Amino acid sequence: VERNPGEGEFHQAVREVFDSLGPAVRKHPEYAEASIVRRMCEPERQLMFRVPWVDDAGEVRINRGFRVEFNSALGPFKGGLRFHPSVYLGTVKFLGFEQTFKNALTGLPIGGGKGGSDFDPKGCSEGEVMRFCQSFMTELYRHIGEHTDVPAGDTGVGRREIGYLFGQYKRITNRYESGVLTGKGLGWGGSQVRTEATGYGLAFFVQEMLGAAGTSLDGRRVVVSGSGNVSIHTIEKVHQLGGTVVACSDSSGFVVDEQGIDLDLLRQVKEVERGRIADYADRRYGAELGRGGSIWDVACDVALPCATQNELDADAARALVGNGCRFVAEGANMPTTPEAIDVLHDAGVRFGPGKAANAGGVATSALEMQQNASRASWTFEKTEQRLEGIMRDIHTLCLTTADAYDLPGNYADGANIAGFTQVADAMLALGVV
Ligand code: NDP
Repeated sequence: VERNPGEGEFHQAVREVFDSLGPAVRKHPEYAEASIVRRMCEPERQLMFRVPWVDDAGEVRINRGFRVEFNSALGPFKGGLRFHPSVYLGTVKFLGFEQTFKNALTGLPIGGGKGGSDFDPKGCSEGEVMRFCQSFMTELYRHIGEHTDVPAGDTGVGRREIGYLFGQYKRITNRYESGVLTGKGLGWGGSQVRTEATGYGLAFFVQEMLGAAGTSLDGRRVVVSGSGNVSIHTIEKVHQLGGTVVACSDSSGFVVDEQGIDLDLLRQVKEVERGRIADYADRRYGAELGRGGSIWDVACDVALPCATQNELDADAARALVGNGCRFVAEGANMPTTPEAIDVLHDAGVRFGPGKAANAGGVATSALEMQQNASRASWTFEKTEQRLEGIMRDIHTLCLTTADAYDLPGNYADGANIAGFTQVADAMLALGVV
């Protein structure tokens, strides 16, 4: 805490992982001897840079850019870029730290990193977003590469932004290096299923969780927070797997739709018109905008927080438990507070942590890197099958690791220990570097 002052979310993420690691460190004293845990807390490299750009009114604007290259023991740094006004070094460090273990769980050769900026794309014109992205890449390009560090999207960074970033990288370096960024468009090096991957992967993971508990998604009431990339594709796949999503949200409120969210309308409002959840409620017969309380007060069997960090607190967890919710899995990064996780565990609710449940996005990014390296383009079906298999394997790894450490059914500890030991073993093999 003293070494990283004012970085509350980073402290929270580190504490959450290290609280699980006692049994692993006792079993492997060599980790302590090599100071693995202390080394893991220190990013390999942290970059912070000025991003100057000119807005449509001709004013010079200054944002701050970040890239934290956390751990490359397993492969090149890999992790998304977040553009949101709340972004500061502590956000990027928490996300990069989490990413290291998540990437290890996928079983693919990728290290962990994360980046972003306090730039707010909301309300900016196309030209402003492009000029910002070009300026951001004008500094970032010297630090990334297909064998070094491979950024992708996250909140506020979708295909449009990846396009502008890739265009600038290509222009500066004079290289069509497809593998330097993932989340690209299908016509210029992107992979099928990447856009859908985090949400689809979450739904596959939840299907496995329910299966392991002897039930299924069929006929289940599901609540999904947010209405961005992860939420929309989670809703789509949950519906395909037989569940009904009865509520979703954005930062201005939530909507309850007992008939099941109408995905076409939601996409029209959020993706095409870039509107608000209230617009969905206005146009959907029978749907109601939530008045008072929170989305977690809506009765459900399965709750999937897919919006942002710390959105589900202890009170929300108690409301979920009181209404009979039996499964919670994180689509967002760290959306459930530590106190809320305790409430859920104490009540016997099965809890799937984000580093396992939302790993489908980065896993498919790694599949995009594989396709770029071999100049291949896989079909949608093949890529989705690979994704489903990876999510099934992560689910099994969490449970078998939890069993091996006498923590049956504890996905959070299972994920932390499994991710940690893979990174730790590679770090031991590579020496003190
Ligand atoms: P988007 O920007 O596409 O969507 C975020 C959604 O969350 C928006 O609907 C936003 O509403 C909503 N939101 C933000 N804050 C709140 C809040 N306080 N209460 C309710 N809703 C809120 O981002 P993504 O879907 O890409 O990412 C969401 C989360 O998933 C993040 O934690 C991200 O790190 C994580 N994640 C994303 C991956 C990906 O592949 N995209 C991969 C793995 C994790 P509004 O429009 O009003 O801002």
